[in-house]
Amino acid sequence: MNFSTFSTSIPSAAGSLNQGHAIDDCGCIYLDNAATTRLDSRVREAMNRIWCEDCFGNAHAKHHFYGSRAVEAVERARKAVATSISAEPGEIVFTSGATEANNLAIKGIANYLRSIGKTHVLTTAIEHKSVLEPINSLRLQGFTVTMLLTKPCGMVTADMVEKALTPQTGLVSIQAVNNETGTVQPLTEIANMLSGRGILFHSDVAQALGKAPFDVKEKALDFATFSAHKIYGPQGIGALFVKKDHINILEPLLAGGGQELGIRSGTLPVALCAGFGAACSLLTDDRAYLQRLRLKFLNRIEMLKPVVYGRRDPGGNVPGILNIRFPGIESEVLISVLPGVAFGVGAACSSTGTRLSHVIMSITGSEQAAKEAIRISFGRYTSESEIDSAASQIIGAVMAIRNLQED
Ligand code: PMP
Repeated sequence: MNFSTFSTSIPSAAGSLNQGHAIDDCGCIYLDNAATTRLDSRVREAMNRIWCEDCFGNAHAKHHFYGSRAVEAVERARKAVATSISAEPGEIVFTSGATEANNLAIKGIANYLRSIGKTHVLTTAIEHKSVLEPINSLRLQGFTVTMLLTKPCGMVTADMVEKALTPQTGLVSIQAVNNETGTVQPLTEIANMLSGRGILFHSDVAQALGKAPFDVKEKALDFATFSAHKIYGPQGIGALFVKKDHINILEPLLAGGGQELGIRSGTLPVALCAGFGAACSLLTDDRAYLQRLRLKFLNRIEMLKPVVYGRRDPGGNVPGILNIRFPGIESEVLISVLPGVAFGVGAACSSTGTRLSHVIMSITGSEQAAKEAIRISFGRYTSESEIDSAASQIIGAVMAIRNLQED
């Protein structure tokens, strides 16, 4: 996708769009946008129109008025999603989110790969669990798997990937942006290296969509995973981009009515599809604004000498995701003294237990680093005053803990 498809209707000083969720409302500043984003009010309106008006029909009952209205809404949404990533509408398969899309791409292609004798799969050690776990299940079915260790900044190069290929490699799955550190992977270089080798290329793009223009064709992807709730859309809807030549080689995870080109059975949630489409149409290039927030935050907390993870080169990290740690202070301790700031520890999807971040473990090799790392993630609705206030609260908390530790 190029920038011309990015809407410019939202001012980049997007904190002004704070939709009445100011700090005072709940006493908590939201800095966990990589976990999920606040629903855009225009997306909510688009969904309300479906729920409240006469689009409530089943999008698979297009023989009557209500069903055909629902089909229209779904197809409008499919087009908006496709346009935002430079795909064709027929290449978009709606799913319940990125987790399902990752599972569908990886497990759904396994039988095809086995049938052509390509039973080696390559990925990186810092992928989201919804990529690593399906790949593990392929391993249990007899596939060989390479989980590439990244550089300490979290990046893999095309050269590193090339060296790990084998004649049996059938699938390479590498995320576009890491959800914990914001590290951008060089997908175009990897795609160029893979070109002509008969290897399928999948990317989990959940954290990249909306952070910068994303074009599945330019990245020569065969499969790509998206999620609406990372782009100010609703939770519970995502999509798998399936390059049109591959529709017939992907097997469904669910047996049923054969909806979504036979790849994903189940009645489509029309309002969620419409919300996803609206969120895609409302994508804006917020990078300059988010970079300003990031620099402001880092400048404010510089005195605490945080360790910062991720890439440092221009464009190497998405500005909205900042992974840091204050050596000697575990994230759980920080959370307990900072009720006024909502931030991430490890991956949100695995934060129900005390499981340490496999990403920070992998890039640092240190359990202590993983215990201490926190993720601050900014978004369209984060205001500069929230950054100031959050930085002040964090400075106060870290200094108080350090003072206690010295006593
Ligand atoms: N992949 C990445 C990179 C993610 O950040 C997430 C959300 N944490 C997912 C997949 C899962 O997304 P969903 O919640 O839509 O299933």
